Amino acid sequence: LEAQFAQSQKMQAVGQLAGGVAHDFNNLLTAIIGFSDLLLLKHKPGDPSFSELMQIKQNANRAAGLTRQLLAFSRRQTLRPQVLELSLIVDDLTVLLKRMIGEKINLGVDHGRNIWPVRADVVQLEQVIINLVVNARDAMPGGGAITIRTSNVTAAETEKFDFEGMVAADYVLIDVQDTGTGMSAEVLDKIFEPFFTTKDLGKGTGLGLSTVYGIIKQTEGFIYPVSVIGVGTTFKIFLPRHIPAVNEITAKGPAATPVRD
Ligand code: ADP
Repeated sequence: LEAQFAQSQKMQAVGQLAGGVAHDFNNLLTAIIGFSDLLLLKHKPGDPSFSELMQIKQNANRAAGLTRQLLAFSRRQTLRPQVLELSLIVDDLTVLLKRMIGEKINLGVDHGRNIWPVRADVVQLEQVIINLVVNARDAMPGGGAITIRTSNVTAAETEKFDFEGMVAADYVLIDVQDTGTGMSAEVLDKIFEPFFTTKDLGKGTGLGLSTVYGIIKQTEGFIYPVSVIGVGTTFKIFLPRHIPAVNEITAKGPAATPVRD
């Protein structure tokens, strides 16, 4: 639990720092790109300086892309928690997810029956699922399968998941499973740290899972990776079951008119 707390403190500090730096950096990069454009106009495509200038511009563009991601990471968006059904969120995303993972990877979705509602921010939950699926894809360069499962876990059942720091309560569990490379203990140790990546330069930022972690913490849930080298990885996310208040407005319409005395 302490480790998770230290982690979220660290994330917040890094987020604030990164946000400030990224903003100023972005302005400088805009100037570099603008002046490169001006110089490019003064050279013909065949000139030796032309391709060098193009290099400057391309790399500045790449850096600008990275700062944009940093800005998105650090932005403390105001949460708009809503009561929602996870299975519907997943279903709405499948077309997009399939397009992202390509033909070589099969996407399976398996919802349990009568999944409890949760209270969370839709956009953030979508971000979580997208980030996990992108990582799963990257772990299966030769193809494979991704399975997303939802299920209910009662407080009594939480015991059977022997995860450190998890509090016994009713949860909705979402599993994102892949048949990819899996992770070593050393990698598993660092995956939630901002900027930790094993991907090639320009391919990974190391911000995907730290973003996921931040969102799950804000939603008062838990996330655990289970990974076996050569077999695959499952990210297990536990979100607190939402218990509707007696007078809560339901999908069927407003609750009965309050009785005055
Ligand atoms: P990035 O994807 O930019 O590298 P992340 O924070 O999303 O950043 O992930 C950090 C690292 O965790 C990845 O570089 C990779 O080594 C590892 N990782 C994450 N998800 C998986 C997965 N499903 N299978 C194998 N490794 C993974």
